[in-house]
Amino acid sequence: MQLTDLAFPLAWRERAALMARALLDHDMYLVCAHIRLDGDALSSMAAMGCFLEQNHKRFLLYAPFGVPENYDFLELPAPVYRSLEALPFRPRTVLALDCGDPGRLGEELSREMSDFSCINIDHHPGPGMGSIASLVVPEASSTTQVIASVLHAAGCEPEGRLAQALALGLITDTGGFRHANASPEVFALAALLEQNGVSIHKLREKLEKTWSYARMRLWGHMSSQLQLLDNGRLALCCLSLDSMEELGAKSEDTEGYVEHMRELRSVLAACLVREQSEGVCKFSLRSTEGVDVRSIAASLGGGGHVNAAGGTLNMSLESAERTLVKVVTRALEEQRAEAHAAHSAR
Ligand code: 5GP
Ligand code: MN
Repeated sequence: MQLTDLAFPLAWRERAALMARALLDHDMYLVCAHIRLDGDALSSMAAMGCFLEQNHKRFLLYAPFGVPENYDFLELPAPVYRSLEALPFRPRTVLALDCGDPGRLGEELSREMSDFSCINIDHHPGPGMGSIASLVVPEASSTTQVIASVLHAAGCEPEGRLAQALALGLITDTGGFRHANASPEVFALAALLEQNGVSIHKLREKLEKTWSYARMRLWGHMSSQLQLLDNGRLALCCLSLDSMEELGAKSEDTEGYVEHMRELRSVLAACLVREQSEGVCKFSLRSTEGVDVRSIAASLGGGGHVNAAGGTLNMSLESAERTLVKVVTRALEEQRAEAHAAHSAR
């Protein structure tokens, strides 16, 4: 089997080709992703920007919170605008990436979405969006993996900064090829990108050797706050705005910590709750196989994937903590009951 046959799955090809056609049929794009960009969201924007540039399309990159500092080494095809008012021309089509939910585009754009047509590419299961075209592949590890297939369908060979961007998205959304979503297709795509000149180990080095002293101290603080509940099955950490400020840490400095919590031997579910502003808390949930944190997050108005999900709660940190402990321990209890019933039925 050819590497390309594995890297660009046959099952996605028809839909990827339709998306490639839709992208080439339109112009004047506003390329964006979910607010507070993670690696996959930023990489998706960068890769699509490179592709649009190659195809002589007009496009603007938009992210209300800008580019997180730890990814500032990534070469972007254009500047990133933080407000719609600052845009040098009025785009026609929103190209929404890695987002799934119009509400996650940020307040400003969510409000104005009815003024634009929309093309959507994503890997989050859910209702999705996109008035012109939508390609949602929940079995994909990352939105960048979906984009790689779309670009392949358009006859685009990933090289240079485009290939870098694709690799960065793959690395970050698979936790450095460690999560369950690191499929044979992911490894094949990574091999292809490496063959095309990307150095994955150098990219990882850039990603890893970025710690500020404040981040290191924040992780120490979070570890000192960590609680183990439900006989060690649930790891919980609550982070107040005050302690973030005291340590001089930024919100992106918490990225990766909830995965670290899951490394505890006894833990089946990890929950990080962070006070974002007064009365607004962001929660992140991670689990090992068998515990569906997506439904837990969805029951609180959030979303995500089976083993990685999150959301926002409009309440104090104490209330958010109580709410999450209640729903997560209940889910763990239900999972035990189900496992027990399945075992007894055998
Ligand atoms: P994180 O905890 O790293 O912010 O997010 C984990 C996963 O849950 C990601 O796939 C992310 O897109 C999703 N997620 C996080 N917050 C929300 C939210 O408020 N709404 C929805 N629908 N998904 C979310
Ligand atoms: Mn993603």
